[in-house]
Amino acid sequence: MILKQAADAVRAADIFIITAGAGMGVDSGLPDFRGDHGFWNAYPMYARLGLSFVDCANPEHFERDPAFGWGFYGHRTNLYRETTPHEGFNIIKRWIKRNSADYFVVTSNVDGQFQKAGYADDRILEVHGSIHHLQCSSPCCLTIWENNEQIPINTDTMRARNIPRCKFCREVSRPNILMFGDCSWLSGRTNEQRRRFESFCDANRGKRIVVIEMGAGKAIPTIRFTSESLGEKQGTTVIRINPREADIDSPHISLELGALQGLQKIDSLL
Ligand SMILES: [Zn+2]
Repeated sequence: MILKQAADAVRAADIFIITAGAGMGVDSGLPDFRGDHGFWNAYPMYARLGLSFVDCANPEHFERDPAFGWGFYGHRTNLYRETTPHEGFNIIKRWIKRNSADYFVVTSNVDGQFQKAGYADDRILEVHGSIHHLQCSSPCCLTIWENNEQIPINTDTMRARNIPRCKFCREVSRPNILMFGDCSWLSGRTNEQRRRFESFCDANRGKRIVVIEMGAGKAIPTIRFTSESLGEKQGTTVIRINPREADIDSPHISLELGALQGLQKIDSLL
């Protein structure tokens, strides 16, 4: 019944807004950093050092011990470069095409998987930045550039064998990602994406909008708030797909499933 409602909403959509949290990557085989346990499963080396995700995702490392800072982020960069986005990305692309709909992606993930799956760069808002972009760690200027560096890692020590440098002042560079306790993150690229998203929303007011939210938990609720605030507008339906925290007020739709499985189940009814 709920699935049929979701399929009806998808069938009627003029506009898709895809909102994604960390759970979106799980079906592509990406680690879930939920809780220390999840993080240490993915990175046993940090369990031995007694370091949590919050400890590792700290901009101070790039100043104090860049090989350590780049150990964590270089490893993730390599992992995301090697990952193939799961079939769920293609399912939504097919819905967009079938409806001749327009779309926008809002993601808290820094992994670049939507671009990799063929979504247009100017239709994506990366609220926490992107690991595939760099900035100076000082920073000496406001420039953000693409990360084309090779960053081999010694996986025993999780230390980087190459430290990407700022191309302007030769200081250490860092990923253009909002980290914990981060005062030096440059938000220019994300701000520009946000402006594009806001114009997109303005231009599509009054149309039948379906928000498909996947894998966005309550721990860092930015994405959930985005979906809920979009859902307050007339004509907008939110489909919240989440295996553990799917609750949302009606008339919105709650599917207690993983991202891929939820999308496949809706797709099977179309
Ligand atoms: Zn610099």
